[in-house]
Order: sequence, then C-alpha cells, then structure tokens
Amino acid sequence: MIQLIRGFKDILPGEVELWQEIERISRELFETFGFKEIRIPIMENTELFARSIGEHTDIVEKEMYTFPDRKGDLITLRPEATASVVRSYIQHKMYAVDPVRKFYTIGPMFRRERPQKGRYRQFYQINAEVIGVDAPYVDAQLIFILATLLDRLKISDVAVHINSLGCPECRPAFRKALTALLEDKKEDLCADCLRRSSTNPLRVLDCKVPACREAMADAPPLLDYLCDGCANHFASVQRTLNGLGVPFVIDKQLVRGLDYYTRTTFEIQTGALGAQSAVAGGGRYDGLIKMLDGPDMPAIGFAIGFDRLVEIVGLKQVDFEKTPRLFIAALGEDCAEKAFDWVCRLGLAGIHAEMDMAVRSLKSQMKQADRSRAAFVLIIGESELASGNAILRNMRTKAQSPIAIDANTVKNVIAHIRPHAT
Ligand code: ATP
Ligand code: MG
Repeated sequence: MIQLIRGFKDILPGEVELWQEIERISRELFETFGFKEIRIPIMENTELFARSIGEHTDIVEKEMYTFPDRKGDLITLRPEATASVVRSYIQHKMYAVDPVRKFYTIGPMFRRERPQKGRYRQFYQINAEVIGVDAPYVDAQLIFILATLLDRLKISDVAVHINSLGCPECRPAFRKALTALLEDKKEDLCADCLRRSSTNPLRVLDCKVPACREAMADAPPLLDYLCDGCANHFASVQRTLNGLGVPFVIDKQLVRGLDYYTRTTFEIQTGALGAQSAVAGGGRYDGLIKMLDGPDMPAIGFAIGFDRLVEIVGLKQVDFEKTPRLFIAALGEDCAEKAFDWVCRLGLAGIHAEMDMAVRSLKSQMKQADRSRAAFVLIIGESELASGNAILRNMRTKAQSPIAIDANTVKNVIAHIRPHAT
C-alpha cells in the first residue's frame, strides 16, 4: 500500500470543516481591516529564499525542499510566504500605483524538519503583510488583529511576546557584545551554534537546545543597544498596544529564525502545544524590499501556524459539520426517478438533499437517513404514489406531514424544511 510522505498529512472531511471555519473567520477579519488576498506560487527560484531568509539560517541551510527542475534550474518549495509576496510586489511594480499595500494569503509551506506534534513538513500558514508604512501604529494594529483573531477562535492560554531587533544602525555594537559573550561560552554551545557564532551570531539566541539557551540566558539584550530611532519606535508600539488594551510581555530573548527582521518582532506563544510553543510569529522587515531590488520601503507582517491553531482552537468541530437538510427515501424505480429529480432541483435551490441511488429497501434507506443525520426525511413508496401524498418526517420532533406529489412538490418541501421550520 502506498502511504503519504512522512511529515505530510491528509486533512479529512470531519476535520476540514474546522479549517474552513478558521479560514472564514480570518478572511472576514482581514477584509474588515482592508487587507486584500494575494495568491502566490508554491515554488520559486531558490535564490529568492536564500537571499531573503538568509544563507545562514536553519531554513535555508537544512530545511528547504530544493531541487533542479528538468532544465537544471534550482527551484524551492516555499518555506514561507513573505519573500514571495515581496517578490510579487516588486515584480508588478505595485509601489508605482500605491506604495501602501495590505495583503493576506493562506496556504501550504514546506520545511524538511523532524516531524512531531505541531511540526510537519507540509504545514499551513495564514499570512498578513503591510508594505509601505513604518509608523508604529501598523505594528500595533497587526498585533491587535492577531490577538483579535485568537479571541474569535476562542483560544486562551496565549501570550503576546514582543521585542525589537533594532536596525542596521544599532546592530554592529550589539553584534560585538554578543560575539564577545559567545567566545566566553564556547564550551557550552552545540555544534550548530559554534558554527553560527561566526556566520550569524544572532541565530544563537534562537537555538532551542537547552544548554545553549542556558548559556545565552545572560546575553546582553538587544534592547539595550537600540538607537534613538528604534527605541522611540518600540516605545510607541508599546504605548499603542496599551491604548488598545492588548496585553503583551517584552521578551528580550525573542529573535526569530529569519534574517530579514528589523525593529518590532513578535510571537504568540502558548503552553498548550508542548515544545512547539509558537502559534504565530512576525515582525518588521524594513530592509527586505530594497534587498530584493525593489524600492526602499518599510514593511511588516506575520505568519500564523494554521496546523497549530487547529490543535488549540476552542471552537468545536461538531458545530461546523455539515449534514444534509433532507434525505429522500424512495422505493421502486418510479419513485426513485421523482426523488432524483427533486434532489437535483433542491440542490439548485441551495438545499442539500440526499437519496439512495441504488434504491435499496426502506429499512436500509431509513438507516442511511439516520447515518446522514439529515434533519428531514421524505418518504415516497407505492402507497404514497397511489395516494398522491409523500410523507415528510421531521427527524427531531418526529412530526409528519403529507406533501402532495405534483408540479409543486419541491416548492412545498422547501417551505417545510427551511431552517425556521425546525
Ligand atoms: P518554530 O520556532 O516552532 O520552528 P518558526 O520560528 O520556525 O517556528 P516561523 O517561520 O515564524 O516559525 O513561522 C510562523 C509559524 O508557522 C510558527 O509560529 C508556527 O506556528 C508555524 N510553523 C513553523 N514551522 C512549522 C512546522 N514545521 N509545522 C507546523 N507549523 C509550523
Ligand atoms: Mg522553525
């Protein structure tokens, strides 16, 4: 038997309804705040991710699905969405018409990580990006939207962590202090971090190995090194969040795993997912658009881990399961023919009706009707045909009413089974 690839998964009917509901609530929220959907491809030239995420990051070094296509061009299954959104913004010169753009996109990402609870090789993200504004209002608004979404999804046990990573102006001094500490702690670091110490020292702060975390516990906080511009910006973000009533904690350890971040960075963390504590993450990436050969334009965004969201969501799966409104139990070919016609017409009217197309016994059809959890059953057999009336049964109240079998049957059925009729 052929099985799916390790770290990949099927989202089956019965689960998918919850995904749809979360997606619906997200879209509604984004649209309210003026975000437009953008759909970007699943594959891009490898260079896009290598340049934007950074050569010396876990994603680019070890996690990307990269392969040559038939002509030998290196392509990569996207590990995240921001790079593609920015590529698209630049490629279509969206800045020429209106530099300020708010996008959202929902879809699969691919990273070859060790599969475990909350960590898959194909996983889904809900992304939002705002390009063209550097005002701290935007930072606060994005975090506010994220907090609102979690609230609407009835997710509790989450905390908003924020930090500032400064800008190219404040980084060098910090990097120097960090490098000095790393030199001191050499013995305590994992092999990866030893390597990172020279290639990308900031990454060490993001290592999940407990010994490294401990060694870095007294690392100098980047916050102490912020230039005036960045410090003021961060203070405004906090003030605005307070004004909006969004609780947050300042997390000096928060660095995030991609190189393009500047200034405000944030993560939503939960205690409900074990080691996979991040439900969403994001931040400013003021230098990225220029770095990808676009105009010098500030930007900020976030990515929500859809799979992790589903695991901690407070909404109940059963509330979204869709059942047919009506099951038509029809006996004999003559009745089945009528039933089939009605099922199709009800569908046109937007009402989900089912029948047994194999036309089995009444007992078997009633069982099917039960299993389908249809709200109503319409019974039509030889005696009903002879009397000119089919029987409509409300499966909850067990009340029965006759429905004339004529040109108006569908209309009459609809009048009886419209939601207010239950
Ligand atoms: P983590 O620290 O858990 O590896 P990350 O920092 O690599 O997360 P981001 O690149 O910020 O994650 O992606 C945003 C969100 O996407 C994460 O907060 C998480 O919820 C989700 N996510 C990331 N990687 C995976 C994965 N392999 N499987 C499922 N969800 C993931
Ligand atoms: Mg990761």
